Amino acid sequence: MLANSAHARDIAYHVHQQTDLASFRETGGTLMARGDGVYVYDEGGKKYLEAMAGLWCASLGFSEKRLAEAAYKQMLQLPYYHTFFAKGHLPSVDLAERLIGMAPAPMSKVLFQCSGSEANDAAIKLVWYYHNAIGKPLKKKIIGRVRGYHGNTVAAVSVSGQPHMLTDFDLPLPMMKHTDNPHYYRFHHDGETEEQFATRMAQNLENLILDEGPDTVAAFFGEPVQGGGGAITPPATYWEKVQAVLRKYDILFLADEVICGFGRTGNMWGSQTYNLQPDMVSCAKALSASYQPISALMINDRIYQAMVAESAKLGTFGHGFTYGGHPVACAVALETLKIYAERDIVGHVKQVSPGFLAGLKALEEHPLVGNARGVGLIAGVELMADKRTREPFAPAMKVGNLVMDKCQEAGLVVRAIGDRIAFTPPLIISADEVQEMLRLFRQGLDAAWSVLR
Ligand code: PLP
Repeated sequence: MLANSAHARDIAYHVHQQTDLASFRETGGTLMARGDGVYVYDEGGKKYLEAMAGLWCASLGFSEKRLAEAAYKQMLQLPYYHTFFAKGHLPSVDLAERLIGMAPAPMSKVLFQCSGSEANDAAIKLVWYYHNAIGKPLKKKIIGRVRGYHGNTVAAVSVSGQPHMLTDFDLPLPMMKHTDNPHYYRFHHDGETEEQFATRMAQNLENLILDEGPDTVAAFFGEPVQGGGGAITPPATYWEKVQAVLRKYDILFLADEVICGFGRTGNMWGSQTYNLQPDMVSCAKALSASYQPISALMINDRIYQAMVAESAKLGTFGHGFTYGGHPVACAVALETLKIYAERDIVGHVKQVSPGFLAGLKALEEHPLVGNARGVGLIAGVELMADKRTREPFAPAMKVGNLVMDKCQEAGLVVRAIGDRIAFTPPLIISADEVQEMLRLFRQGLDAAWSVLR
């Protein structure tokens, strides 16, 4: 590595996120230089098929000029304005109206922020604000799930169940509780059907609520498909049973659609795929195809009316971000939604999904692969030491990382979450590109297997 190369300067000056800092200091990383469709190219000119769409987010790939033009046009017209003190601008009005019109359940209003974390963080604050407003100030606890992911702010990461993001950060906050990870393949008992497993998950949730005291439990946060936990699709009947428990104890439900929203699961919303009836919906990522940082939190009218009453009592609604509802981000999001409609992005996902899922499923015959499962264009592939007994590899072997590295050598970007390999390619991926992705993945698996066997 040359002393003044980009890689050396990267090591010298930059703290990378979610990275093993000690090994990064030795090896450096990969700097991406440009994008074209579902491909990205690094500084050395090497081409990669981006099977994660970055961070589950670049839904329209890496070269959609219309989004750059929408940003440029808005920057020329009104590059910044806020939405504090009853002021605002047309792009935020248009986007809010559009989102409410397409919401997966009856929603009343939208709050804009810059990231999925902030949307969920705002939701946590509103859960508390709402219960104070309606005279139930004891309802403060929020239940998330082990391996769930809702963001990295202090509160959102506390609802998340990702041990490595909590340990030594003195988190989670004490009012955040966690119920089971509904990962059927790994955690079902021998002979237990998906439905029986889902019943057990819902029963454990109910037990947690009863242990904590139903009068103290305010909300439940869940992703329709767990992303950061490893692209884990819920077992059959899971959501139906969980929602029945939430209704029984009058617990608000936030559907975290940050990954699933805008076509990922083969419907516009994961909530539609799994028949969810949330009180709040958070979304980000594909909202702007990730070309601009923007997120939205949608709330139902019951929550909104309580907020109006509370703000009347206090004199204002004391919440907001300088860049929340940024006009450039709103303009890019509006153009993104226009492109989804014009190109029937949901129809496209439905069309390419069977080849994507069947191709990954076929890899279950590979000696490293125990299970492959997904929906739409999101899937997780579980690597197993012994698939007959469902015995995982020892974590210290870092087999997931080995496979990820071998894939990268082959020209494929995937993500290892422990020993699960996650796939969420850009939604625009073609059937031929899916086949190329599967071929490169097999190449990566074979290369890892030749190291391990
Ligand atoms: N919620 C889910 C389901 C996510 O996957 C993520 C990020 O991956 C977030 C929230 C946090 O979003 P952000 O990284 O934009 O803060």
